[in-house]
Amino acid sequence: ATLQSDKQKAKQYVTNVYNATAQRNPHETEFLQAVKEIVDSLVPVIARQPKYMNSGILERLLEPEKIITFRVPWVDDQGKVQVNRGFRVQFNSALGPYKGGLRFHPSVNASIVKFLGFEQIFKNSLTGQQIGGGKGGSDFDPKGKSDMEIMRFCQSFMTELYQHIGPETDVPAGDVGVNSKEIGYLFGQYKKLRGAFEAGVLTGKGIGYGGSLARTEATGYGLVYFVQEMLKDNGLDFKDKTVIVSGSGNVSIYAMEKAMEFGARVVACSDSDGYIYDENGINLDTVKELKETGNERISEYTEKHPNAEYFEDCTQIFSLPCDIALPCATQNEINEETAKTMLNNGVKAVGEGANMPSSNEAVNLFLENDILFAPAKAANAGGVAVSSLEMAQNSSKIAWSFEKVDSRLQEIMKDIYQNSMKAAAEYGVPGNLVTGANIAGFIKVADAMTEQGVI
Ligand code: GLU
Repeated sequence: ATLQSDKQKAKQYVTNVYNATAQRNPHETEFLQAVKEIVDSLVPVIARQPKYMNSGILERLLEPEKIITFRVPWVDDQGKVQVNRGFRVQFNSALGPYKGGLRFHPSVNASIVKFLGFEQIFKNSLTGQQIGGGKGGSDFDPKGKSDMEIMRFCQSFMTELYQHIGPETDVPAGDVGVNSKEIGYLFGQYKKLRGAFEAGVLTGKGIGYGGSLARTEATGYGLVYFVQEMLKDNGLDFKDKTVIVSGSGNVSIYAMEKAMEFGARVVACSDSDGYIYDENGINLDTVKELKETGNERISEYTEKHPNAEYFEDCTQIFSLPCDIALPCATQNEINEETAKTMLNNGVKAVGEGANMPSSNEAVNLFLENDILFAPAKAANAGGVAVSSLEMAQNSSKIAWSFEKVDSRLQEIMKDIYQNSMKAAAEYGVPGNLVTGANIAGFIKVADAMTEQGVI
């Protein structure tokens, strides 16, 4: 009876906190979606540990420590002044300096950076590294911009951001639209304004000036390592499985590479225009040539591989049948309807490489139907984990070999899998990695916040 009432109280607390958050942040649909998913899954831990309720942990956790919004003016190649909006959300520093990427994409707004920053808190906690959660970006669209325009934009962006970041305060990195090229321009401007070479202020740097080997590969490889653990636990593996990986950016490319190395047949990938299907298996060299070296669209793939098919409407990529789906493009690519199609097509496992690629309805559908489901916060944590290894290398001024970074990454992904499974079992939802990851990530942050007092 007491247990029942503890659960009722926890449910009530979580509902109240969610409602207050929704009221305080109207129209922030992505942020509220991420909040809802997390707080619902924390009911069992709050029921067992009322101290979290009494110290207002959730109320504090849901309010970012600081949000910076700023004007980013720059001059385009025609000499015309352009203005974008820049953001940095410093969400939580209980475990270390704020850490998280910068996203440059026209869809970026306060809701999106807040959802990403909020998720980053739990993800970073799961890595076991000393990093808090943050995120930033701009509604700047790098698509179709010249190199010099991108450079001028990055310089202007950093002219404001530099005073808010530093190796011990806030360490940005890349995300959608921000790769080592942009990080290079951002770093150059930071260095100039600071008058000091502080390598640890940004991660994802070029290898020649403080970047870490295997950082580029880390998110995609880490995702596949995580999914492999999950498959293994259930008597399965990647060998001869049909795999679909949405996206064709950094995460997608290295997820495809590792899945292929493990014997999978990857038959489809996409960009924001459309998707390609190659039943012989995607030729990764061609995708790399188009997307990493060139600045091309994925539709060009069929020119080199006429047997492959191109379809417009990237959102339909998961209507193709597959054994394992790895959504690595962006948030909400899989809605309830897509999830139903995937179930009907016999999907066995889903591993999230992008942040929040599945809607909450889609996630629940996968769980209810016993699909093996690896949630983003756990499964895509390899990128930020290696970012943290990059920070360690920068502060010790020693560069590690590819093998050393890659083997640390494998250990970290295994630990995340095991800790999430353990938390799931301990809190009465065995095998549910969504709840398990959320709880395991939460406890560390909540305890650190408690120990550090009300600040
Ligand atoms: N943007 C990546 C993420 O979503 C990496 C962040 C980082 O390396 O700081 O986790």
